[in-house]
Amino acid sequence: MEKEKQMEILKNLIAIDSVNDNEAKVADYITSLFEPYKDREDVDIKRVTYAPNRDNLVVTIGKGKKVLGFSGHEDVVSPGELSAWDSDPFKAEIKDGKLFGRGATDMKGGLAALVITMLDFLVADKIPGKIRLFATVGEETGEYGAAQLTKAGYADGLAGLIIAEPSNEMKEVGIASKGVIDYAVTSMGKGAHSSKPEEGINAIDHLIDFANEVKLLMEKFDEVDPFLGKLTHVQSVFQGGEQINSVPAKALMKGNIRTIPTYSNQAVFAALNGLIDKLNQKPGYDLSIEYIFPEEAMSGDANAELVQLVRSVHDEMYSDPMKVVGNTGASDGSEFLHAKGNFSIVQVGPGNDSEHQSNENIDVDIFSQSVEFYKKLAVAFFN
Ligand SMILES: [Zn+2]
Repeated sequence: MEKEKQMEILKNLIAIDSVNDNEAKVADYITSLFEPYKDREDVDIKRVTYAPNRDNLVVTIGKGKKVLGFSGHEDVVSPGELSAWDSDPFKAEIKDGKLFGRGATDMKGGLAALVITMLDFLVADKIPGKIRLFATVGEETGEYGAAQLTKAGYADGLAGLIIAEPSNEMKEVGIASKGVIDYAVTSMGKGAHSSKPEEGINAIDHLIDFANEVKLLMEKFDEVDPFLGKLTHVQSVFQGGEQINSVPAKALMKGNIRTIPTYSNQAVFAALNGLIDKLNQKPGYDLSIEYIFPEEAMSGDANAELVQLVRSVHDEMYSDPMKVVGNTGASDGSEFLHAKGNFSIVQVGPGNDSEHQSNENIDVDIFSQSVEFYKKLAVAFFN
């Protein structure tokens, strides 16, 4: 596809405001691009609705038993303060070889590149094998589109999955990612006038005990992953008390844990639940814990066939050596890895470190070259 047409597709995707909603419009647009081919027997287009206005899209092209997965998310994060932008975040502008707009890097650029790769195969009528695109909803807020598609079996039997998240302008390939455990602990006490504290139960005191102990408990998870480093833990929200002269009846804290593959989420849950149970043995303690959208860490093997394939195509196209890395953030890969079958997942895509920021941008040439990269990779994958 000509570069101009490629840029038009990316611009049109950016123009759809899909800040944690409206992914159906992104699915509509991608569907419209495949519309001319929809009657071919080797083309299958399926929408999988998550919620009103929020559709995942699964597009399969080609034939054969071996299936290569392509994945990109349709949602973007909020543009934030508009005054911090030099241009309209939903009206992409090109300046000095860079295209600016919300999602340019994360990851409408990568998504567009995958779509264009598939369209080019269709136009040329040379599809190297069966390729399945997963365009997902809600990646930024809990990977629930990928979770839904995985549960419904769309990713079962894949032979490999390429996620086009930005990877330092195609210089890196991500093979592992940290998991996420968000937790909320509620401490219930008993209100009383602070002049008679013996009549109340101080919910804040009990929560502070938890906060102090959980810090030490998480530090015991001290193994170091070669790609991801250590498990991290941040106590991020603290609320409690009703007024200055009352014994607090309720207090709440939240924390965010980023896990590594050495430790399953189950192991971390067991430790946290154990601490809650231990504290609740003490008189008057009433603590409870809740987990929000936990994601399992994704382990990676630098020697996996798919990683080697990415490396060889990369070395053929780019002069810089490719770096194998881990990602500290979770991605749709954390959900797709639960699909049936044994396959590798790699993250490699155009885009830079401007994700989630104002003036998010993508290098136009790197974006365009990534289409060539995905084409070569797909051909090599089926050879
Ligand atoms: Zn992303």
